[in-house]
Amino acid sequence: MNYKLIILGSGAAPGVPSLSGGWLACNPDNPKNKRNRTSTYLEYKNTKILIDTSPDIRYQLIDNNIKDLDAVLFTHVHADHLLGIDYLREINRIQSKGINFYSGPRNMVEIEKRFDYLIGHVKRPEDYILIPSLLPHIIHPYEPFYINDLKITPIIMFDHSPESYGFVFNDGDIVYFSDFRKIDEKAFDMWKKQPELLIIPLTNPKAQITHAGFETVMQYIDKVNAKRVIINHMAGECDYDDINKRTPDNVEPAYDNMIIEF
Ligand SMILES: [Zn+2]
Ligand SMILES: [Zn+2]
Repeated sequence: MNYKLIILGSGAAPGVPSLSGGWLACNPDNPKNKRNRTSTYLEYKNTKILIDTSPDIRYQLIDNNIKDLDAVLFTHVHADHLLGIDYLREINRIQSKGINFYSGPRNMVEIEKRFDYLIGHVKRPEDYILIPSLLPHIIHPYEPFYINDLKITPIIMFDHSPESYGFVFNDGDIVYFSDFRKIDEKAFDMWKKQPELLIIPLTNPKAQITHAGFETVMQYIDKVNAKRVIINHMAGECDYDDINKRTPDNVEPAYDNMIIEF
């Protein structure tokens, strides 16, 4: 087994239950319906990465005993994906060095503006050795980069935020979509084999201006044709059992701390 992926948070921005809506369509008796916000941990051989830093990151890292990271990838800068960034300083303290993080150019401007105090600069190496810091790397759509021997190809999600990225790992072993209304057609050329795993968000079965609904998500699931599919980033409108019943056998909803190994 080469891959271990942990869904640290399977919820959308309000979490489930939410303050305003409570459990909505979710059965409160099913513990799988209790959802923190989005972060995902991926281990490949000895490479450990985190995708997004949710506002719930503290317990997500503690509960899963995640204490060291090779890199952090940011999909986009919406609060439910970013606001735990400050807690990476705990990883800095444990590792006694800076952490490389990767985001698109527009997201990077935003991160550096809002979290200036966290950012280290390669020109001043003493900063990231002596002071907890994050080391920025700008990524571009369809330009692959490596973290150790893990190949990562950024792909573009449309109509969600000014810049939302998904990632293709090792030419299609894993396809990871972030928040989207539409996916750039070019993304589908980034893998030449049947993906082992697709992670795809379904915020609400009813389509919203910035989120695809159930039908569109199912169309993309068909199109990607992965062996296994995990539906992620669910708000209170998505009940675990209901989504599970409405989807084929190889498609299942995520839940917090779900582990996928292959
Ligand atoms: Zn989101
Ligand atoms: Zn978003």
